[in-house]
Formats: sequence, C-alpha cells, structure tokens
Amino acid sequence: MTDFAFTPAAVPSARIAGSRQRFPVHRIYCVGRNYAEHAREMGSDPEREPPVFFTKPADAVTANEAVVPYPPRTSNLHHEIELVVAIGRAGADIPIARALDHVFGYAAGNDLTRRDLQQAARKKGLPWDIGKAFDHSAPLAALRPAELGHVSSGRIWLTVNGEMRQQADVADMIWTVPEIITELSGLFELQPGDLIYTGTPAGVGALQPGDRIEGGIEGLEVLRNTVVAR
Ligand code: MN
Repeated sequence: MTDFAFTPAAVPSARIAGSRQRFPVHRIYCVGRNYAEHAREMGSDPEREPPVFFTKPADAVTANEAVVPYPPRTSNLHHEIELVVAIGRAGADIPIARALDHVFGYAAGNDLTRRDLQQAARKKGLPWDIGKAFDHSAPLAALRPAELGHVSSGRIWLTVNGEMRQQADVADMIWTVPEIITELSGLFELQPGDLIYTGTPAGVGALQPGDRIEGGIEGLEVLRNTVVAR
C-alpha cells in the first residue's frame, strides 16, 4: 500500500442504469458551441468559429436528484442540457470508423455555467475555468450502456419549474459523437472513465435558488436537480 501523507479523496463516480456497479470518473471534457443556434445566442458565428473543448474537474460530477448549491461570485448561473458520452476504452488518434467502439454509454448531463464569469473571461481572451469548472457544475443522470444502442438523434430538452427552456434534437449537433471522439483523442489520450459533455442547444438561461431543473434526452434517464441557496 502506498503511504500517502493523508487519505486521498474518493474516486468520483456515476450511476449505471440497471447495474449495481458504478462508472469511475477519470476526466470531464466538454464541447462548446456545438449547436449552431446556441453559438449564435452566445454571440458567435458557427460558420466561422468551430466548436471548442474545455474541461471540468472529475469531482464536479453531481448525482441525479442531488441539490446544487448556488455557486459563489456569480449572479447569472445558467443551465445547459447536454448529451454526455462515457468512454470505456482507452485510445489516441482514434479513427472515425472506430470511434463508437470506445463508448461505454450515454447519459443526460447539465453543464452548469457561471455565465457572467465565462463572458468576462471570453472578452479578455482568458481561460473559461472559473466560469465552467466550479464545484457541483456537472450534474449527470445514470449512464445507459452502449450495448443498448448508440445515440445520434432524439429529442433533448430542459424545463425549469415545469417551463420549457431548451428543446432541440441531438441530430442538430455540429460535431457528431464520432467526430468529437476523433478530434478529442488527437489532443488527449482518452481513458476509460472519461466523460464528454457534447454541447448544449439554444435556450440557455438563468437559474435561481429554489429552481427545480428537469432535463432529458430521448431514451435516457431524466436528470432532476434543485438549486439551493449556499
Ligand atoms: Mn456546454
């Protein structure tokens, strides 16, 4: 046994639908601007600015039904419903025809964003970390194993207190799941346990303490979280 100076943090993990085993989270990658209409609502031109990658810490993962504390230093916390791809097999420079072989499963996730801090960073050409990578910023529903089918289309939606905020189709993504895996694996060696939040459609908006968020993707478990005052 390694003699650590103190007890290491627990491995962050996610539920797997229909299983008692859990999915150990290694890294969280995210895709920005992957739906044209959302890129436009953020003030970008999807024809000229391709999707981008950023990351969140693995321990930002937050369980379905968990409460989300309203994060500090923001007055504009936004929801972003996203299809999340879980990686089950390592690989670098993965060819597009082999990309889906590396997928463990799929889930609905919410890329929570301190929009005011992200926009301020964008304007100054600074990294997005403080806008994106805060504690509890990556709610995730149970993963559905890829044996039950890959996800390339289907309704993606999010409501706040029962009111529809986001509604689109996964087929509207600019980069498809195989394209994302191929691109990302050229930049980083993917590992089992990696999660990829694949981008959000239009309709992002502000959350307040007390808000009940529900979001889903056709065929996957619905993600439900409540925002609470810190
Ligand atoms: Mn996002």
